[in-house]
Amino acid sequence: MTTHATAADRLLKIDTIYHEPAVAEYARGRAILDRFPEAARVEVASHWNIPDLHRNADLAEEWVRVKRATLVLGVKKGLQIRPNQRSADFIAPSSASGCALACPYCYVGRRKGFANPITAFVNIEAIVAAIGRHAGKQGWKLEPTAADPRLWVYELGTNSDISVDALISDNVRDLVALFRDLPNAKATFATKFVNRAMLDYDPQGKTRLRFSLMPQRISRTLDVRTSPVAARIVAIDDFLRAGYEVNVSIAPVILYDGWLDDYAELFAQLADGIGPAARAQLSAEVIFLTHDAQLHDVNMRWHPQAEELLWRPEWQEEKTAQISGDRVLRYRLRIKQPAVRQLCELLEATVPGCAIRYAF
Ligand code: SF4
Repeated sequence: MTTHATAADRLLKIDTIYHEPAVAEYARGRAILDRFPEAARVEVASHWNIPDLHRNADLAEEWVRVKRATLVLGVKKGLQIRPNQRSADFIAPSSASGCALACPYCYVGRRKGFANPITAFVNIEAIVAAIGRHAGKQGWKLEPTAADPRLWVYELGTNSDISVDALISDNVRDLVALFRDLPNAKATFATKFVNRAMLDYDPQGKTRLRFSLMPQRISRTLDVRTSPVAARIVAIDDFLRAGYEVNVSIAPVILYDGWLDDYAELFAQLADGIGPAARAQLSAEVIFLTHDAQLHDVNMRWHPQAEELLWRPEWQEEKTAQISGDRVLRYRLRIKQPAVRQLCELLEATVPGCAIRYAF
């Protein structure tokens, strides 16, 4: 496989691999185990429930160390494909869950207890086959949707950062190759990491990458271990030239004193940082922060500074998340609705022609 050694070395120093017993029966499983020959191997019954990791409260203080040093390998059991109505028409089965980056607002972490390192799934052939069968049954897209006017769009990265997963194995390369060959479908994923090894994946316009952006001033505190925002903007033209469709995800939008001035600066940076070709195909999604009391408690043990930005109970209220069904905190509607409007107006004025796919 091809990897960007520097990026992988910076993010990962794997010393322990928890793995389900069947992992070594899969070529992808063996390839990943071979990549980290020095790592201690711990066999576990289920990738999802590892008491030493997920229920070990002492690990909350070591949140980042665990992400750097631990890898979980498993076999993805459920290969269902769920409908979606926002960034995609469908949500594909995950090829990974968990992440080596450490954004304290990450909703994947909310479900993992006290640790959330990468769990990579080794049965990639079954995942690829399930998506291929599903796309085959859809036929041609006859009516446009918010996700795309012409092609069925499959979201790949709901439980991980796909560009980081690509440091671990060729799972992502295989998925990009699948969509290159599907006549009626394209892939999409949001990312906060610039993995230049993916520039040679040859997606031929059938993978839409969405760089997530927030003002650098708060990104320094909140986007822990990610690529700098400026590097993501610089990469837009490069990934477009490499055959990706490249959009942006303004997410999560955080409210604080002076927030709109910082977003104005971010949008100006975006407008100045991309060429005409990128501008011509650019779309954005705008997603305001949701948070969660349990994750707040975990974050207070390893990154209390982040919670000064994320935890604003006087501005937040409970709601049921549309996709996960979880109870989460969002900004109170009377605060959020005008903020959504202001931000969209600012984006439209600063980056003219950038369609806003949805904002909430
Ligand atoms: S990059 Fe995405 S998946 Fe990774 S920690 Fe951040 S929000 Fe979570």
